[in-house]
Amino acid sequence: MQDSAALVEVEGVRKNFAVRAGFFGRARGQLRAVDAVDLRIACGEVLGVVGESGSGKSTLGRLVLRLLEPSGGRILFDGVEITHRPPAQIRPLRRRMQMIFQDPYASLDPRMRIGDALAEALRVAAPGPRAALRAQAADLLDQVGLPAEAMHRYPRAFSGGQRQRVAIARALAVRPDFLVADEPVSALDVSIQAGIIALLQQLRAELHLAMMFISHDLSVVEMLSDRVLVLYLGRTMETGPTAQVFAAPRHPYTRALLSAVPGRDRATGRRPFAIAGETPSPIAPPSGCVFRTRCPFAEAVCAETAPTLEPIGPARASACIRRDAIDLG
Ligand code: ADP
Ligand code: MG
Repeated sequence: MQDSAALVEVEGVRKNFAVRAGFFGRARGQLRAVDAVDLRIACGEVLGVVGESGSGKSTLGRLVLRLLEPSGGRILFDGVEITHRPPAQIRPLRRRMQMIFQDPYASLDPRMRIGDALAEALRVAAPGPRAALRAQAADLLDQVGLPAEAMHRYPRAFSGGQRQRVAIARALAVRPDFLVADEPVSALDVSIQAGIIALLQQLRAELHLAMMFISHDLSVVEMLSDRVLVLYLGRTMETGPTAQVFAAPRHPYTRALLSAVPGRDRATGRRPFAIAGETPSPIAPPSGCVFRTRCPFAEAVCAETAPTLEPIGPARASACIRRDAIDLG
């Protein structure tokens, strides 16, 4: 179970990117990749972050780890404000926060044997004699479901799923408290995905890990997350306990994402709920509610007023001003 102590606290975090816009890219524009997002992750808790491609999930994950400098807001890790700390001052905390990527090569050196890579990571966390580090590396491999002989192999000698297991072992070597997993199974076959999700479940329980689990795939998020945060164009549309949000969404965007999961509406006896059109350009988002151009319930007021994220009961919130008036089916 999770503790109530917050490990990660984010208040109103923003990230703007300067981009070229307009004809011939002459104008300079600001792209609000993450726009005033609040979140909190308790020790041992898993927060799922969902949204279509371009909704700001990866940017949010990188902000929380302070791999990116925020344009505004506040980021605290274990009570320490790291919002604008220079890299040298974040380094002592780095070990406690690790990242797993869609592409495991991103965290593995292709020229290093797995045993050496893990022993090196273990040494950085806690120096010790070589033989002891190698024994710990073998234990780590066992923990992620790989045989000890994997020590002698290079990253390329593994299948995609095995390589992701190696990347997880590499992240765990430094004994983190917090993991950002950014689409960690999205490049894998469905049959392989289930094994990695089960592994993350197991590790989370064994090691009391907190996680930000990022995926565009709601089915995957549902399996692992205690709470979920739904992003659209860098804004939080809805947040709350995963089971509640998935069973009875209170924002049309969440409802549409759920409806887009194959077979889900049929299984839950709901009518299909499709949204039209493409995501608007993040450089020129719609006025008012950014989702209104695709929302079947949008009214004139939605173009005028940007909705705030308002609580619905104790643990949930929705950023739809009509949250109480619409029937999401
Ligand atoms: P997601 O992970 O949900 O697909 P991202 O966080 O990668 O979304 O991107 C959010 C938005 O920010 C997108 O519009 C993307 O094009 C833009 N973006 C991300 N990184 C940069 C960057 N370094 N420079 C300019 N725009 C960026
Ligand atoms: Mg991404």
